[in-house]
Amino acid sequence: MPSFLVTGASRGIGLAIIQKLLQDQSNFVIATSRDVSVSKALQDLHKTYPRDRLASLSLNLEIPSSIDDLARDAAALLPNGLDCLISNAGVAYEQGIPVQDLDMHLLEKNLHVNSIAPVHLVRAFLPLIRKGNDKKIVFITSGSGSMVLAPDHMELGTSYSMSKAALNMLARKCGATFGPEGITVVLIHPGWVETDMGNDLNELMKIHHPDFPKISAEESAEACLRITAGAKLETAIKFHSYDGTEVPW
Ligand code: NDP
Repeated sequence: MPSFLVTGASRGIGLAIIQKLLQDQSNFVIATSRDVSVSKALQDLHKTYPRDRLASLSLNLEIPSSIDDLARDAAALLPNGLDCLISNAGVAYEQGIPVQDLDMHLLEKNLHVNSIAPVHLVRAFLPLIRKGNDKKIVFITSGSGSMVLAPDHMELGTSYSMSKAALNMLARKCGATFGPEGITVVLIHPGWVETDMGNDLNELMKIHHPDFPKISAEESAEACLRITAGAKLETAIKFHSYDGTEVPW
């Protein structure tokens, strides 16, 4: 039974990813959220799917011990290892704030959740991924982390862009480090998406990029899973965009 663990599955793209994964009867899905009890959507899914299809575990990326607890609890549910880890959870504080006005505390939070905690996550899950069949690690990043595209989106969040640029480098390092042992690392820009985070950008996008396409969480999830399924060890690692193109690094 192919197994997936998706972080940040309480809402937005992560929720849409687990909904899509659950449509395939052969998949076992572990959804993480900071507090399962506050996500009505996750609770509703639990009413539909039995425990051998869907499990929910808690994860707060700001708390290192929470990542270790998650890995321990997931191991108990995954005797054959984990096929695919999807590191999706993320934050975007201070969109549109210029460098000189950044709140250093929020900058640190962006960096911690989006780029430092994923290092811990990968380390904690390596033993389970090594034991799995598919051996995939997927990072949901953002085009905002592209150095090449930076001049096109200077008005968007500096600390968010910094955190995603660091995540992109983590993905490249993981690809180079774990590729030789058969682990495929996948890096995906999910598009500008109709979620809480995506909607926070509505005003800025209206002013600076009025024609920029926005997609639904379902479309984004479908694209992320299509890219994940098609990703091959030999061609890793590319900076995939949801629309099938490649994002320049
Ligand atoms: P949402 O804000 O809708 O959801 C974010 C998810 O991350 C929630 O499940 C949230 O959980 C979880 N999360 C936030 N903070 C933490 C934390 N400290 N520990 C654990 N989980 C946490 O965002 P999206 O669905 O839009 O974004 C998903 C990913 O896609 C992110 O990595 C984002 O950067 C990326 N992305 C999104 C774009 C967009 O337009 N939406 C564009 C480009 C990239 P909780 O419910 O507990 O808050």
